[in-house]
Amino acid sequence: MSGHKLMFSGLKLCPSGKNRWTNRLLSGVSGRGKASFSSCSRPKVCIVGSGPAGFYTAQALIKARQDVQVDIYEQLPVPFGLVRFGVAPDHPEVKNVINTFTQTAKQSRCSFYGNVTVGKDVSIEDLQQAYHAVVLSYGAEGNRSMGVPGEDLAGVYSAKDFVGWYNGLPSCQELSPDLSCETAVILGQGNVALDVARILLSPIDLLKKTDITQPALEALSESLVRRVLIVGRRGPKQVACTIKEVREMVNLPDTRPEMVEADFEGVTEALKDLPRPRKRLTELMLKTALEIPGEKERERRNAASRVWGFRFFRSPVEVLAHPDHKRTAGIRLAVNRLEGEGEGSRAVLTGEVEDVTCGLVISSIGYRSLPIDPAVPFDAGKAIVPNHMGRVQQAAGLYCSGWVKTGPTGVIATTMNNSFDTARSLMEDMDSGKLDISAAKPGSQSISALLEKRGVKAVIFSDWERMDRLEMRRGEAAGKPREKLLTVEEMLQAARN
Ligand code: FAD
Ligand code: NAP
Repeated sequence: MSGHKLMFSGLKLCPSGKNRWTNRLLSGVSGRGKASFSSCSRPKVCIVGSGPAGFYTAQALIKARQDVQVDIYEQLPVPFGLVRFGVAPDHPEVKNVINTFTQTAKQSRCSFYGNVTVGKDVSIEDLQQAYHAVVLSYGAEGNRSMGVPGEDLAGVYSAKDFVGWYNGLPSCQELSPDLSCETAVILGQGNVALDVARILLSPIDLLKKTDITQPALEALSESLVRRVLIVGRRGPKQVACTIKEVREMVNLPDTRPEMVEADFEGVTEALKDLPRPRKRLTELMLKTALEIPGEKERERRNAASRVWGFRFFRSPVEVLAHPDHKRTAGIRLAVNRLEGEGEGSRAVLTGEVEDVTCGLVISSIGYRSLPIDPAVPFDAGKAIVPNHMGRVQQAAGLYCSGWVKTGPTGVIATTMNNSFDTARSLMEDMDSGKLDISAAKPGSQSISALLEKRGVKAVIFSDWERMDRLEMRRGEAAGKPREKLLTVEEMLQAARN
């Protein structure tokens, strides 16, 4: 990052020896639950979305410049985006990033305003008037659809909704998926598909110790699903998941793998040409599919009551209806062949199809960003905000980071790096004068006034901490790390108590 200059021209300096009152002013919070505002002129940046991208961008900005004020606006009353609502409940170690995000949120120059939907409660134009810069970090709230007949039948869900359901996302709590069938088909072979497969097949005693929601735990404990097929349009050498997640499937108690030997034709011979991580992953799949297990593993597999397997070279063509025309009875898959080699190979239809009987279809073919405000450029084809190094194209003062910048792929570490890149672009623009910060901006002062006029009650970070403590207390009583609040109303009530 280029060494920044503090730009004070035309700015009124804040007192540097901060007392409690000044601290509160700087953090935009005066008294419990009430927002007040600094009259100091300082660069003011707001961020839309409080997932990893929002928090990592805020962290980088605050670290790079001692005078910048960063306000984060989040549509939900609770922070952390997909770390709370995406990451699998049985992967608690991944959620440790929340500690870093909390440190950022508690900095005197960072404020969190939850329960504010940008594009609805406030517009981007409102934010641009109040802040020197606006960073869009609002993730990918939609999902790619399969675009096949029967997709709307009962028993067909997007992985986005299914994950949101078991992780307590308020908008997904009505999903109540029907788990009364034996076979589930998951379309897509990314890590989300593997998360879903694992949750469907995990012994309930393992899930009980996680922060999975109580309704999901109850539904899964009554689930009749015994067989999960994870279907990909390409071959074993092209799966999008990673080795850790495949290993977890291989080692999942009370399950055995069920693969199709023919899918692995020629794969052993191709191993030597694969890059190392891909080679290790492919070796694990080959071993699982083809190797005759030792006695102990054979016994384990024979005793297993549940089955999982990859199916390759298959694309969804149609979700087949039950004779009652109301729910799904199966899926028709096109048989593909590959054109080209390696990661870039393309699935091409052979004309053959194959029907698989199943009562549950979960489409896990990727998330998708959505436009939130007509004033923001949006590339509908790529489903991203078009940008150059995080600078939104043809929109001065607008930046983006995270999945809305890159598209919906990448782990938290990838999102961190691309958010740091965006913060660097923003800092460079401040330093070079490309981003004009000479005039004072009101920041959260004017936005809070607008929200009040519009009847929107924002929550602040200490409100979240109250919800957090309540969730942990409820969890303790149930022997879980936390029992999540499941509706916005419950969250707001807990924030005020
Ligand atoms: P998000 O995390 O989605 O955050 C966006 C935030 O913006 C959300 O809080 C949202 O509520 C808010 N928002 C949306 N619209 C508005 C609006 N209009 N106004 C205000 N706020 C808004 N990575 C790993 O490293 N390990 C894992 O185990 C892992 N598991 C995953 C599991 C799933 C199911 C998924 C989908 C992803 C997983 N990832 C994992 C990837 C990781 O979650 C992403 O890299 C990361 O969350 C992307 O960050 P983001 O901030 O761009 O988006
Ligand atoms: P992903 O990794 O991009 O996988 C999407 C899958 O859907 C791929 O198998 C893809 O196949 C397939 N697909 C896409 N379009 C399709 C279509 N039209 N028809 C059929 N199949 C289609 O996406 P994801 O699983 O949603 O994961 C998103 C990101 O979050 C990834 O970077 C992932 O690693 C990360 N994540 C990480 C973890 C973890 O670390 N534990 C957990 C969950 C998610 P093709 O390859 O043929 O396109």
